[in-house]
Amino acid sequence: MDQTKIDALRAQPAAPFVHLIDGKHVAASDGGTMDIISPIDGQVLTTTARGTAVDMEAAIASARAAFEDGRWAGQPPAARKKVLMKWADLIEANALELAVLGVRDNGTEISMAIKAEPGSAAATIRYYAEALDKLYGEIAPTSGDVLGLIHKEPVGVVGAIIPWNFPMMIGAWKLGPALAMGNSVVLKPSEAASLSLMRMADLALEAGLPLGVLNAVTGEGKVVGEALGLSMDVDVLVFTGSGGTGRRLMEYAARSNMKRVYLELGGKSPNIIFADAPDLDEAAKVAAAGIFRNSGQVCVAGSRLLVEASVHDDFVAAVTNAAEAMRVGDPLRMDTHIGAINSDAQLQANLGFVETAKAEGGQIVTGGGRILQDTGGYYMAPTIITGVTPDATLAQKEVFGPVLSVTSFTTDEEAVKIANATVYGLAGGVWTSNLSRAHRMVRNVRTGVMHVNTYGGADGTVPLGGVGQSGNGADKSLHAIDKYINLKTAWIKL
Ligand code: NAD
Repeated sequence: MDQTKIDALRAQPAAPFVHLIDGKHVAASDGGTMDIISPIDGQVLTTTARGTAVDMEAAIASARAAFEDGRWAGQPPAARKKVLMKWADLIEANALELAVLGVRDNGTEISMAIKAEPGSAAATIRYYAEALDKLYGEIAPTSGDVLGLIHKEPVGVVGAIIPWNFPMMIGAWKLGPALAMGNSVVLKPSEAASLSLMRMADLALEAGLPLGVLNAVTGEGKVVGEALGLSMDVDVLVFTGSGGTGRRLMEYAARSNMKRVYLELGGKSPNIIFADAPDLDEAAKVAAAGIFRNSGQVCVAGSRLLVEASVHDDFVAAVTNAAEAMRVGDPLRMDTHIGAINSDAQLQANLGFVETAKAEGGQIVTGGGRILQDTGGYYMAPTIITGVTPDATLAQKEVFGPVLSVTSFTTDEEAVKIANATVYGLAGGVWTSNLSRAHRMVRNVRTGVMHVNTYGGADGTVPLGGVGQSGNGADKSLHAIDKYINLKTAWIKL
C-alpha cells in the first residue's frame, strides 16, 4: 500500500456526519452535534449528529414502512443479490478512503485496518449476497395425507448496535445476512467510531438499496441505543459490545415487545502453551500479535497466556522480545504494528488494570504505562504481567487493552481448569504437537472458537459466537442467517 496516498487522505479535512434516515442525510431533530476526537492526536476530527429518541423513532418508522411495502423483501433474490454484490464492489473500490477515515476515528493501525475493515466487510457482504439465492425452504417428512412446508421468512426490522473496535467488519457481519434475507435495518454505530460505517451505509444506497431499507443514526448509546432497544417496532436486536450494555438490551426487550436479542460480548481468552508446541518461537510471536495488535482492542484477543511451567521463563522471554520488537505509534504509518488506544477513558481504564495487577502481586515484565504523550494521542506500551493467579482481577476481567497476563500450569487438567475459570467463553488457543491433547483441549475448553497451533484469523466461513457471558448466537458463516429469519410452518391436508 502506498504511504503517500494514505498521507494525502489523512490531510483532507473530515466533513461533518449526520444521520441517514429514509434515504436522506438529516441533522439531529434538536440540532445537536458531538465532537469526534481522533485518538491519533487527541484533536477534534469532525462532528456527528447527536441523535435523539425522536430521530431513532423516525429511522425505525422508515425501516418499518420499507419492510411492509416489500420494496426490498419483495424483490426477486437475483435482484437483491445484484445490489449487495455492487455494494461489496463499491466498498472495495473505496477501501483506502474508508480505512483511513476509520483509523483517524478509532486508532487501529492501518496495516490491520485495511484488511480487517473494508477488506473483510466487502468479503462478508459478498458472501451473503452469493448465498441468498441458494437457501431453500424445507419439506417435512410427514405421512402421505399431509404436506408440511417450512418457509424461511425475513423477521422484519433489525436493530444493529455496533462497537468501535472494528466498525465496518462487525457492521457487515450484521448487515450482510440481515439485508440478504430481505430485512430492513436500523444501524446504531458507536459514538467512539462511527464515521467509516456511516460512509459504508451511504455506499449501499449508491449500489441501489431502496431508500428506507437501511437507516443509520449516530449518537449516545444511552439515548438512541436505548430508544432502539425499547422500540415496539423492532423485531430483532443484534449487538456487539460490552456485557453491561448486553444486559441492558435484554432488559429493554423484556420491558417492550420481547424482541429477540443476540449478543456478541467480551472475552478473557486463554492461549495455552504446552512445552511440546511445534515451534515455541513461532508461538511466542503469534501470542504477542494475538494480544497486542490493535492495542488489544480485539474481542478474541488472547489476553491470558497459560504456559507449562517447564518452559515458562524461556517462553515469557520470547514473548517479551516479540512485544518489544513491535512498533507502537502513528496508526497511519504502514510500518506501525500497534496503533492508538481508542479514547482517553479507555487508556485510563487500561492503566487502572495495571495498577490493580501490581497491587495483587503481578510482576511487570515489560510496558505498563502510557507512551508518546507528546503527540496528544492515546498510546500504551505493550504490557506483560507474570505471576497472575487465576482468581486475580487481571485474570478475571476483560481489559480490552494491550495487557497480557501470564499464569503457569503443570498438567493438562490444571490448564483446562484455569482456562474455564472465568465467566467468559469467547475464544482460546492451544499449542502442542500431540494430536490427542489438541483435540482434548478443543473439547474441554469452554469457548466459541479454539485455535490450534495458531491464534486468530478465522475467516467468514466459520461462526464466531461466545458461550457463557461472552454472548449467544453467532456472527459469520451460514449459521448467522438463522438470526435474521423466522421459520413458518404450512401444514396442508391433502
Ligand atoms: P459498549 O457496550 O460500550 O458499546 C457498544 C455499542 O452499544 C455502542 O454503539 C454504544 O453506543 C451502544 N450502547 C451503549 N450503551 C447503550 C445502551 N444503554 N443502550 C443501547 N446501546 C448502548 O462496547 P464498546 O466499548 O463499544 O466495545 C467493546 C466491547 O465489545 C468489548 O467488551 C469487546 O470484547 C466487545 N466485542 C465483542 C466482539 C464479539 O464478536 N464477541 C467483537 C468486538 C468487540
